[in-house]
Amino acid sequence: MALWIGVDDTDSRRGGCTTYVAVVAMRRLEALGARLIGYPRLVRLNPNCPYKTRGNAAVAFKVEGVKLEEAEDVMQCVVEEFSEINEGAETGIAFLEGEPGEKLRGFYWRAVRELVPLEDGFRVAEEVSAKLIYYGGGMGIIGALAAIGADLSLGKTYELIAHRRREYWGTVRKIDLASVFEMDRATRPYTFDNIDPESGEIRITPHTPCPVLLGIRGVDPEILKKAFRMIRVYEPIEFVTIFETNQATDAHYQKLGTRDLSDGVSAIVEGIVAETPRIDVGGHVFFKLKDEHGEIWCAAYEPTKSFRKLILQLIPGDKIIAYGAVKQKPQGLTLNLEKIYIRGLAEKIIERPPKCPECGRRMTSMGKNKGFKCGRCRARLPEECKEIVRIPRTIRPGFYEVPPSARRHLTRPLMLDELLRDN
Ligand SMILES: [Zn+2]
Repeated sequence: MALWIGVDDTDSRRGGCTTYVAVVAMRRLEALGARLIGYPRLVRLNPNCPYKTRGNAAVAFKVEGVKLEEAEDVMQCVVEEFSEINEGAETGIAFLEGEPGEKLRGFYWRAVRELVPLEDGFRVAEEVSAKLIYYGGGMGIIGALAAIGADLSLGKTYELIAHRRREYWGTVRKIDLASVFEMDRATRPYTFDNIDPESGEIRITPHTPCPVLLGIRGVDPEILKKAFRMIRVYEPIEFVTIFETNQATDAHYQKLGTRDLSDGVSAIVEGIVAETPRIDVGGHVFFKLKDEHGEIWCAAYEPTKSFRKLILQLIPGDKIIAYGAVKQKPQGLTLNLEKIYIRGLAEKIIERPPKCPECGRRMTSMGKNKGFKCGRCRARLPEECKEIVRIPRTIRPGFYEVPPSARRHLTRPLMLDELLRDN
């Protein structure tokens, strides 16, 4: 019988890495005669979790040909060797014999979209007869169970992860940066997020002292292997593993109206710009979005860089669909924008006094709705004669997104939308 193993929360803020723990465990199980079935999964959970470490990733994989007790021993050994349980990691390991059913799939969707209380994890484990091993309070059981239950039917992507030898952890990663640009040009959009186009920064290498040398994301495992071969690496590599993942699938979003929003959800909200966007001293841009039931603040924070210029060109009346994470802020619930779809642009109109029909000079207003008079020849005109000027809009309908450095792992880059349309 197949055995699913899930693991999460192996790293503290200082480093460590759940993917490394999983890969070491997979190798040790294989050495005991186990067979891995399919790709291991790298699953991102609700990015708004207040207690997440980095990226909030959990891993699950499926094996055959190993007894549950043997697998438990291996997982426990590897976690105790590599997990940062002394640094506060509340590692959870889950074991499920057979295939995950509806209940665990439902639990996955909650873990991606909501903040799931720990007791719900223990309850669902009991309901599906999953065996748990955990450390500390066991916060990691949520991700371990969710990764086993992961439903990738909305789409999946892949990530090739190269892990470093232990003696290199914490040292500068020795890869040729030019080769990353070459790889990007040769394989994009089948690989994505290799480079931040705005800053020119390499994005395949993490900045933490963790065991990951690099991770290349893409939509096709074969192209990922080719892309990896193009990277010139000047240090020994311990493991190369391709994971299937829910990254870049928009799995965290729910379509919600303004009255259904709450702290910690990621939402797609359709509405109308209610207030002209303004920029504050920190460089953050805010505006109000309304639908038929209410209003919400939308924010494009400073790290979203040039995306803010686009947002500043919105005007009241523009019809948009906003994608982002909802946070409780002093001004109220605020949608932290990740992308927007502009459905329709309002007409930008200014009204001004007409020119004097007698002498041609621009007239002046005599007060709100009181008509106009000419300062030179004293001619008068009623309010209806005001001049209406249409100002051309400088933006177009369509999708816009924040740069990769400000995008979360679960959010689908627009580049992939285009790829899928082409197919
Ligand atoms: Zn005049």
